[in-house]
Amino acid sequence: MTTHTPASIFNADLHCHSVVSDGTLTPEELAARAKANGVELWSLTDHDEVGGQHRAMAAARAVGLPYLTGTEISVTFASVTVHIVGLGFDPDHPALVQGLARTRGGRDERAQEMSDQLAAVGIHGAFEGALKYAGNPELISRTHFARYLVETGVCADTYEVFRRFLTEGKPGFVPHRWAKLADAVRWIREAGGVAVIAHPARYDHSPTAEYALFSEFVGHGGQGVEVVTGSHSPDEYVTYADMAQEFGLAASRGSDFHSPDESHTDLGALPNLPGKLTPVWTLLADRIHWPQ
Ligand code: AMP
Ligand code: MN
Ligand code: MN
Ligand code: MN
Repeated sequence: MTTHTPASIFNADLHCHSVVSDGTLTPEELAARAKANGVELWSLTDHDEVGGQHRAMAAARAVGLPYLTGTEISVTFASVTVHIVGLGFDPDHPALVQGLARTRGGRDERAQEMSDQLAAVGIHGAFEGALKYAGNPELISRTHFARYLVETGVCADTYEVFRRFLTEGKPGFVPHRWAKLADAVRWIREAGGVAVIAHPARYDHSPTAEYALFSEFVGHGGQGVEVVTGSHSPDEYVTYADMAQEFGLAASRGSDFHSPDESHTDLGALPNLPGKLTPVWTLLADRIHWPQ
């Protein structure tokens, strides 16, 4: 019998998206791609959804890939949207399932407003155009609008979309109140999982607000932070490795892969975590689904 231990895992990819949120591949296609890319431990972390977890778990098992359940919860903290990844929870836990359903509510109305703003600058049919890309009608997101703006030739790629549209001060940006930090961390913990601050370098927080985010997160029982992610530069790996140590947080690693056509970082294609850090998956040894 092979003895599996989390400590022997380096190529963990604990952040990506499927058609259940705003990715373009199915959970089964992602499992196969992760395996082919040499990933040793995988998690599917759809935005505000756990609807793909049983499929992902079965697909991971079928290709012989260790699996941790995952999700990425949208939170509003100090007027900024922050993402909290949950790992290793029970995907059927009522507090988590109901909390995520409430967090998804309101996306439809927001999308209508986004579409109205785009119409005001001459871009028509965006709601229907975006909805067509949404594999999950409850999860219409800015990514689906971005795909419509590329399809119609308004922008060359989704990176151009987020420079010209859909972000603060640009047409199609509709501020939204997501979950509270305390609630998101509580849902994850009640379901037996570990909460992780996703891609901290991406937030438009002042240094004071960033410090508040980390300290309140720890106060609520948060235990991890993404250090090596497709959303960070190598300099930022160093910054957040130091922050992890300062706040006593374990470190996570994930590509944030969405699509072969859109994502710069493929599944598993990341540097290792700095050796001085505690990998978050060592806190989750008994939550890993090992293939038999
Ligand atoms: P939403 O949850 O509807 O606000 O959509 C957020 C999603 O849009 C993120 O999860 C990313 O997939 C995508 N996104 C947001 N900002 C950017 C950006 N600057 N560049 C590329 N994708 C982005
Ligand atoms: Mn996304
Ligand atoms: Mn995110
Ligand atoms: Mn993500």
